Amino acid sequence: MIPFTYEGLPARVIFGSGTLDQVGSEVERLGCKRVMVISTPQQAAEAERIAKQLGAAHGVTYTGAVMHTPVDVTEHAMTLVRDEKIDGTVAIGGGSTIGLGKAIALRTDLPQLVIPTTYAGSEMTPILGQTENGQKTTQRTHKVLPETVIYDVDLTLTLPARMSVVSGLNAMAHAVEALYATNANPVISMMAESGIAALYRGLPKLSAAPDDLEARSDALYGAWLCAVCLGASNVALHHKLCHVLGGSFDLPHAETHAIILPHALAYNAPVTRDAVDAIKRALGGGGGIAGKLYDIALNAGAPVALRDIGMPKDGIDRALEVVMANPYANPRPIDPAVIRRLLVNAWEGVRPDHSTYAA
Ligand code: NAD
Repeated sequence: MIPFTYEGLPARVIFGSGTLDQVGSEVERLGCKRVMVISTPQQAAEAERIAKQLGAAHGVTYTGAVMHTPVDVTEHAMTLVRDEKIDGTVAIGGGSTIGLGKAIALRTDLPQLVIPTTYAGSEMTPILGQTENGQKTTQRTHKVLPETVIYDVDLTLTLPARMSVVSGLNAMAHAVEALYATNANPVISMMAESGIAALYRGLPKLSAAPDDLEARSDALYGAWLCAVCLGASNVALHHKLCHVLGGSFDLPHAETHAIILPHALAYNAPVTRDAVDAIKRALGGGGGIAGKLYDIALNAGAPVALRDIGMPKDGIDRALEVVMANPYANPRPIDPAVIRRLLVNAWEGVRPDHSTYAA
């Protein structure tokens, strides 16, 4: 027997094709009469479409969401929330837009309807990262967990193939870490395995044919399951390394996660047998799981080397220093020599296998 604690997070989830049509009735269900629609400048047209659909329930649109949820952007949006007497938000977009909706909820407790258009997964988590004076701080609070999430696979068709694959690998990383998290439990482990399997089915197909609705559906379904895993689990080596790398060298979020995933998995594989077995099943059986994940990125033309996304070579030792100065839970103890090898390999873009980080 393996004892565990499971805590389900409340959320209403609608999944399908054409589900955006339900935005009006879902806003009504939340009891909102005057909502703010939020997007990035790049997705202003989608925000406009939703505003039209909402009719009288639309109060105002804010299209200024940007990466890393800067506090000054949130404050700007908050003046509109107050001036326009907004009683709920509808966020359409990726993690950046969803982050702004969460930051507003943190300050107001307003209900949130979220319509994700990437695979990043913020919509299912009680986590918010905010940036102020160049510092990113992350907190977990149920106040920021969205009440309703509408997944409409049609909205993901415009996400460029390469970005989709990178975003999908970022999602898979949530599930991989959930399988060996200190608070792992059987419900989340089932979701993690199914999430990895669905993304593994979908990503190579959509990379070849970005408008393949079945592949898009697999990927979005997998992203949802992986997002639940992130919301429920403590993170370990993979997320911590990405946090250090992203924060120290201003590297792009999803790309960094996608590059580090096969290496972190190979590092932890020797001591996480159950997780490895689950991932093997999810990837169709057989070994070479780290290499299989690496190949998804390689075959899609996505970056596999940190040097190709802007990390300087002398950053390897700087990152190692920060990693070693901030110890954290990981199934395998953090061995500086092996972690350095990992960072060198990830910087160069080496394809890892089960022996790359053998003790
Ligand atoms: P993003 O939200 O920054 O989106 C990237 C760009 O793609 C934006 O310009 C966006 O408008 C555009 N885009 C989004 N969907 C599109 C579509 N379907 N078609 C065309 N263009 C589209 O990127 P992201 O990777 O989704 O989110 C990254 C951010 O989310 C980071 O700041 C990260 O820290 C945060 N995040 C937070 C959590 C959490 O739980 N709090 C989880 C995951 C990510």
